[in-house]
Amino acid sequence: MSLSRNILLWMSENRWMKERIPKFGFVKKAVKKFMPGETEAAALDAAYQFSLAGIPSVFTKLGENITQISEAYAVRDHYLRLIDKVANRKLDIEISLKLTQLGFDLSEEETFKNFTAIVSKAKEKLGNTVFIDMESSAYTQRTIDFYKRVKKEHDNAGICLQAYLLRTDQDILDLVEFNPAIRIVKGAYKEPGDIVFKRKILVDDNFFLCARDLMKNRSNKNVRAVFATHDEKLIKRIREETERNGIQKSKYEFQMLYGIKTSLQKQIAKEGYRFRVLIAYGESWYPWYMRRLAERPANIWFVLKNLF
Ligand SMILES: Cc1cc2nc3c(=O)[nH]c(=O)nc-3n(C[C@H](O)[C@H](O)[C@H](O)COP(=O)(O)OP(=O)(O)OC[C@H]3O[C@@H](n4cnc5c(N)ncnc54)[C@H](O)[C@@H]3O)c2cc1C
Repeated sequence: MSLSRNILLWMSENRWMKERIPKFGFVKKAVKKFMPGETEAAALDAAYQFSLAGIPSVFTKLGENITQISEAYAVRDHYLRLIDKVANRKLDIEISLKLTQLGFDLSEEETFKNFTAIVSKAKEKLGNTVFIDMESSAYTQRTIDFYKRVKKEHDNAGICLQAYLLRTDQDILDLVEFNPAIRIVKGAYKEPGDIVFKRKILVDDNFFLCARDLMKNRSNKNVRAVFATHDEKLIKRIREETERNGIQKSKYEFQMLYGIKTSLQKQIAKEGYRFRVLIAYGESWYPWYMRRLAERPANIWFVLKNLF
């Protein structure tokens, strides 16, 4: 991992910086590259614009590691109200959220109640899936266990798995029998060296292998396979592999983040692949934004440009 990436990931976890950096106007301005605004209304407007191009969305209200259970209830209520608004506006929007936003550090039982309230309402009103983001490795096993518990009662739940972790291919094989919806990503956190692929090329390879295994194992199961990446080489590799195996475009899906490679997003959707754009919003954007900078440290120049 490069030094600049390490520093940015360290900054994403630093409480002193978290309290100060978001107050700078030039940083606030730079964040707009990755999110249409802090409000849900701004996110809904952006989703509407994408829908005109035939692109459905995934929403995430930014925030993580809350410290009071009352904050978790507020997040739950936010998503419950959002589902009504999405239903009223007849938009195709799924939700993806972090368990630590729903109280995972405080009470697993309360988190379960909060999550199942959201997943039940999404099924009833929208008939779609609610995804669980994957956070740092401190939560991997607990998140997978939580997901299996949810899946026993709620078929419309999905989980994200990270290709940089050595364990992920095994996790996919373990989860397949639960008829999962799995979103594979490379992984965005600062992790101990002994549990991850250290070189980027190995992470990319593992993403491909995980994608291939997920596609291979989905045939006799009800598996939803989502590949969330902006890596064009990797996307091409996945497309070629599925074509070689006679798998139709409709059997898997790509996802990308709002503001990154927008023309590629439109092109993929236009070519008939299933595609969703993930739109983030909310005031607690600092750690999330720092992880976006860490993914491409050159983004720092964009922040500095706003300073001048
Ligand atoms: C829909 C979605 C959901 C996600 N959910 C999670 C999650 O739950 N848990 C988790 O750990 N991670 C999550 N991520 C983030 C993911 O782990 C990666 O950190 C992120 O997607 C960057 O990796 P990449 O696959 O695009 O490949 P990279 O090799 O990092 O990037 C490929 C190319 O894409 C472009 N690019 C990538 N990132 C940026 C950026 N920030 N700014 C500008 N250009 C960029 C660059 O041109 C780069 O060369 C999610 C990503 C997406 C798209």
